Amino acid sequence: QNLNIKKAHELLQDGKLSARELLRQCVENIKKNKLNSFAEVFDDAYEKAEEVDRKISEGQTIPLLSGIPMAVKDNILIKDKKCSAGSKILENYVAPYSAGAIKKLEKEDVVFVGRTNMDEFAMGSSTEHSYYGPTKNPYDKERVAGGSSGGSAAAVAAGECLVALGSDTGGSIRQPASFCGVVGMKPTYGAVSRNGLMAMASSLDQIGPITKTVEDAEIIFNAIKGHDPLDSTSVESSKLQATSYKLQAKKVGVPREFFSIEGDNPGLSAGVISNFKKALEALKKMGVKIKEISIPSLEYSTEAYYIIMAAEVSSNLARYDGIKYGLSERGETLLDGYMKTRKEGFGDEARRRILLGTYVLSAGYYDAYYGRAQKVRNLIKNDFKKAFKKVDVIVSPTTPTPAFKIGEKTKDPVQMYLADIFTNAANLTGVPAVSVPCGLDGGLPLGVQFMAPWFEEEKMFFISKKLEENVF
Ligand code: GLN
Repeated sequence: QNLNIKKAHELLQDGKLSARELLRQCVENIKKNKLNSFAEVFDDAYEKAEEVDRKISEGQTIPLLSGIPMAVKDNILIKDKKCSAGSKILENYVAPYSAGAIKKLEKEDVVFVGRTNMDEFAMGSSTEHSYYGPTKNPYDKERVAGGSSGGSAAAVAAGECLVALGSDTGGSIRQPASFCGVVGMKPTYGAVSRNGLMAMASSLDQIGPITKTVEDAEIIFNAIKGHDPLDSTSVESSKLQATSYKLQAKKVGVPREFFSIEGDNPGLSAGVISNFKKALEALKKMGVKIKEISIPSLEYSTEAYYIIMAAEVSSNLARYDGIKYGLSERGETLLDGYMKTRKEGFGDEARRRILLGTYVLSAGYYDAYYGRAQKVRNLIKNDFKKAFKKVDVIVSPTTPTPAFKIGEKTKDPVQMYLADIFTNAANLTGVPAVSVPCGLDGGLPLGVQFMAPWFEEEKMFFISKKLEENVF
């Protein structure tokens, strides 16, 4: 399945391929691959596909995304479908409405294949924290697909859908995309509505596409972006112009701090470094200027991220108390019931972060941890503003290593956290970022990440396409 959106659309519109057949191939791959990339394949997907086929046979001109099989992360609501965020506590929860991004896609008759596996409430980098067990990497089934949108990335890479949606709070779209050799894009904070995305850390979360090509990511981004009155942090559409390629990226900055964070450095692999150098060479040959820049505060981004994220997680997850949603265990008292439900419903990682988050928010520690982390976040934002005066986009590897083995990092959560080093700054600052597949290390895919200034996604698509054409 080497189809991209435009090609598939052409074949569908011309009657050379039916939406039903396209979906059938995806479903067959899901069964054959056994990657555990889906929590559920929707049983009405064929009906939707047939509806599109009917419209085509009636001679209608269909929108670009009609009939395109899309997989959706299990934390994005689709009306009347189960949505569990990879958690036992929401195992049987059914969405009462569709997310803002989904509503836009429903209008175009996208075919939703199913909901994809993920780390519980999007907390993790490997899908090993999913109630449904880990998703396997299509390149090596003993390795993780990354996370938390591991199911979506594996599904795209293995032809189990044409495109997918993920969510990214600290790298959860880009890191699995990198591990699975596909494109993953996190929009500017506020570009895509968060209404109907289960909140992990509300000031960091964004929905974005996972696709095989940069062009496909751009198409999906353009389809889902825009103001939504139901998300007060979503921005007015005027800021989100259509891509015109007036904004090019000619100067690319490499932050020196990414490569010199001693002690913190989770073992940047030699393969990643040499591959990254090759990517820079390729860009130079295309006439792009590479400039070393300094973003001093980057050194503290992982620490700031894990404090702010945990603080927000602890308050967002307070709503799962056995009364409002999902799993409900009875206790002798109300409090007892809350505790039983949460003990039964949450996995280890969710619990760890709730504890950490309540701690950093508690009286006496608030200023020392949460308050300081917010200050660091401001420093990073200001440093990014300065950097973007000197360069058009910032480049780095997406991850410090290729996909690791299943089980390799589960005993040491901090090791897993430190591997977010390249990705979490985009969430802290809100800038858009994309991971583009670029090179292999020992047969495993690697990604290169570009970050662009706020609402200038166009620059990052421009440069990503250049690199994509030049995959070595
Ligand atoms: N690995 C990060 C974390 O565990 C990313 C999570 C995310 O982006 N949802 O928090």
